[in-house]
Amino acid sequence: MQKVREFHRQSIQDREAFWAREAQRIHWETPFTRVLDYSRPPFARWFVGGRTNLCYNAVDRWLDTQGDQPALIWVSTEVDQEIVYTRADLAREVNAAAATLQELGVVQGDRVLIYLPMIPQAAFFMLACARLGAIHSVVFGGFAAHNLAQRIDDAQPRVIVSTDAGSRGGRPIAYKPLLDQAIEQSSHAPERVVLVNRGLAPMDLTPGRDLEYAPLRARHLDAQVPVVWLESNEPSYILYTSGTTGNPKGVQRDVGGYAVALCASMEYIYGGKPGDVYFSSSDVGWVVGHSYVVYGPLLNGQATVMYEGTPVRPDAAILWRIVETYRVNVLFSAPTAIRVLKKHDPALLSRHDLSSLERIYLAGEPLDELTGQWLSEALGKPVIDNYWQTETGWPILSAQPGIEEVPTRFGSPSFPVYGYDARVVDETTGRDCGPNQKGVVAIEPPLPPGAMSTIWGNDERFVRTYFQSFPGRLCYSTSDWGLVDDDGYWYILGRTDDVINVAGHRLGTREIEESVNTHPAVAESAVVGVADQLKGQEAMAFAVLRNPALLEESGARERLEAEIKRVIEQRNGAVARPARILFVNTLPKTRSGKVLRRAIVALCEGRDPGDLTTIEDPGALDQIRAAL
Ligand code: AMP
Repeated sequence: MQKVREFHRQSIQDREAFWAREAQRIHWETPFTRVLDYSRPPFARWFVGGRTNLCYNAVDRWLDTQGDQPALIWVSTEVDQEIVYTRADLAREVNAAAATLQELGVVQGDRVLIYLPMIPQAAFFMLACARLGAIHSVVFGGFAAHNLAQRIDDAQPRVIVSTDAGSRGGRPIAYKPLLDQAIEQSSHAPERVVLVNRGLAPMDLTPGRDLEYAPLRARHLDAQVPVVWLESNEPSYILYTSGTTGNPKGVQRDVGGYAVALCASMEYIYGGKPGDVYFSSSDVGWVVGHSYVVYGPLLNGQATVMYEGTPVRPDAAILWRIVETYRVNVLFSAPTAIRVLKKHDPALLSRHDLSSLERIYLAGEPLDELTGQWLSEALGKPVIDNYWQTETGWPILSAQPGIEEVPTRFGSPSFPVYGYDARVVDETTGRDCGPNQKGVVAIEPPLPPGAMSTIWGNDERFVRTYFQSFPGRLCYSTSDWGLVDDDGYWYILGRTDDVINVAGHRLGTREIEESVNTHPAVAESAVVGVADQLKGQEAMAFAVLRNPALLEESGARERLEAEIKRVIEQRNGAVARPARILFVNTLPKTRSGKVLRRAIVALCEGRDPGDLTTIEDPGALDQIRAAL
């Protein structure tokens, strides 16, 4: 691993020379005057003074050489449709979307909220925003009205782009009623709502506010919208992610640093080159969808596959069928999807010609050794575990075959990626841990290009949330436990906070608790993540009722459980629905009133609850045991 190590060393020891070189990968309309301004730690400003544009670099820049080659390949097994957009087609669609937004008054700095399923219009409108310098905020389609309302209030979009419906397992899932509810709940009102009508569900239009996209598109199909050249550190987008409070954080990303970091990652981490085909099965509502369905491949002149559907429909060979049909070189998926495939006939793995496929990358949640090994043996292809977060925008830990092929170890996402001065830090002393010593995975700032610039509208929260975990040390905390072994391989050992990961979806237990507590019968609750073989973790809720005698009525338990689950579904979406809602008279707490979550999780997983010296009422644990 000599080369990877040396490359990493250079990137940290001489950051400016390293990134000045990488910055040549993209077009700068005006060259930058400084590579890095780190005069106000921990805020890092990359490529200061440089003017560029994400849409120009992803679309226009490739028109001369790749105008007639595939750029966006859309496959939907939900509505049985496949469309290949060439780079020229993509340019036309993006310009039409940009002209539409312009007609509706969107200008540089305005926010546009995109609430769409995996349809090409999601990418068209993201790129259209980038073209205009408008800031997009894509909200995952699986989120419900309450989540959406919170994001509308925080981002204050001038325009929202949405649709009549998504589809899951062949059944339409209406989006418009959720959007209407969300707009009703939020204090901020968008001026306009643009709706892509897929003809999947009936849709009421609010006069004066809602517009169907088809006639707007038709009017603007030949528009040529000038690119707005943005200073490298202007915001490109906001993407909300869960933390320890009920309020999601708007991760804000820049323009120039993001473009450079993604372009470089396409080569060094994913081994890609212009003309290659990249297929990430993530949803555009998550960070992987932003970085590796839309921006990364397109910025590097690669084609991207956008897939609307599940990994098992029409059968569990669908991912491999797509790889064969479109000669995919790299597949990027999540461990949960592979654990689902593992339960199906192994013959499905050899039904298709996978000769184009070089590697498979899995990210978003821990990759267990068995799943990684199973997939790599079954396909005879390298499987690479990627560790990163919404905040960083691109991998922190990964094998980097574009630099050097180094053997991987199942259970480890390999090594720190160039640009990241990653450490394992002791949370009590704030000092670096030694080999094999568990600590918090941290990044010594400045964060590299492409990582978050701040929390939207809240610099103070950015510093407090991410940079104040270690005594006497300004260092970014990932909120994940980890360790490095004697050979330099890294291991991730779970979250240090109350965030859980259900099938690769990052959820804040605090947000779910707030929903449980809105039920009038509930006094308080605790939601924890419990190990699940398929989904990695699943949520489990414990509720204390205002009037415990209520449970004595026949059928009350089942009715309350169903009602609380429904509230969660309506506020946070189906992904957040706990496996069970259990009722107890009191929650196990410390004397200072903190819920002993680790003890609850341990009991749920059949383990010893550990150190209980601080517990207020040991009887509370017996209640948890009894409820289980
Ligand atoms: P998100 O911001 O939704 O991408 O979630 C990021 C979190 O998911 C990380 O902080 C980890 O807790 C977890 N995670 C992501 N990738 C991995 C991985 N390869 N191994 C272990 N945990 C991961």
